[in-house]
Amino acid sequence: MAKRRPVKSKKKSRRRKKKKPAVFPRIIASLVILVVLVVAAAWLVNFFLLRRPLWLHDRAQAPEKASGRPAYEVFTAKVPPPPPVIQRPSARIGHKAKVAIIIDDMGYDSDLGRRMVNLDKGITISMLPFAPFKRKILVAAREHGHEIMLHLPMEPMEYPSVKPGPGALLSSMSPDDLIEQLQRDLADVNGVAGVNNHMGSRLTSMDAQMRQIFSILKKRGLFFIDSRTTADTVCRPSAQLLKLPFAQRDVFIDHVDDSMFIRNQLKLLVKRAKRQGYAIGIAHPHPKTCEVLEEMIPKLKAEVDLVPASRVVALASAHQP
Ligand SMILES: [Zn+2]
Repeated sequence: MAKRRPVKSKKKSRRRKKKKPAVFPRIIASLVILVVLVVAAAWLVNFFLLRRPLWLHDRAQAPEKASGRPAYEVFTAKVPPPPPVIQRPSARIGHKAKVAIIIDDMGYDSDLGRRMVNLDKGITISMLPFAPFKRKILVAAREHGHEIMLHLPMEPMEYPSVKPGPGALLSSMSPDDLIEQLQRDLADVNGVAGVNNHMGSRLTSMDAQMRQIFSILKKRGLFFIDSRTTADTVCRPSAQLLKLPFAQRDVFIDHVDDSMFIRNQLKLLVKRAKRQGYAIGIAHPHPKTCEVLEEMIPKLKAEVDLVPASRVVALASAHQP
């Protein structure tokens, strides 16, 4: 028995010797897996957070999305055209033409909201309902003397793949539900002078729904500005039927994220205002828009009067054909 024990221990030591080489491949394999995981994680962070994929860079008109923020305006291949220019001989002489610039899609970017509010008080601020920075921006906007509007989310043609965000009015809603939702949206952004549509390429082409919405706005003494997100809009005849103070967007200012484009759109807005006596431009809280407006507002004011949206609505309503 005593002789056998050393033999066993020799066998064990042989086994240990055999096992030792197997440790290194395992360490190497573990290291390789670790490196692969680190590289994959770094690539994913780079892809999704730091460097947007090229196909998004190329599509300047793609809607911007972020967690917790509804998509901004959706522009299809061709932006719906503005209404025909109304030639007014009196606009060519005498008073300066009136221009309203509405910054809508407000409430989801605190810093840009603040920068927009710090622009000339002639700029009109249109706030999305239930937006996280609504209260803070509205307090500052009122202190600076800006006119405030409700930016009313409405169903676009692309719905449900594109959602207009909290408080949206949808074509599937019953008349009662539609009106209740509108009342809640108006209560959320109270003290507004008027309303313009956020998205809404489907809903603004529907007669019955627009008349229901306009009847509430009329009762409350508000105006409506059609953002014209579709050429098939029926807002104008619906507003005329109800004698609702009404105007339409003339120029989208920043649907291409390029400073030169934005400058040219502002020039187009001024040109159009000089022909009709007034014009409405709609812009959004984007950094380039803010920079260009900061640079161009003094030049713009040398040529036209920058006025709150309600002033242009009054002129446009008085001039309904
Ligand atoms: Zn919008």
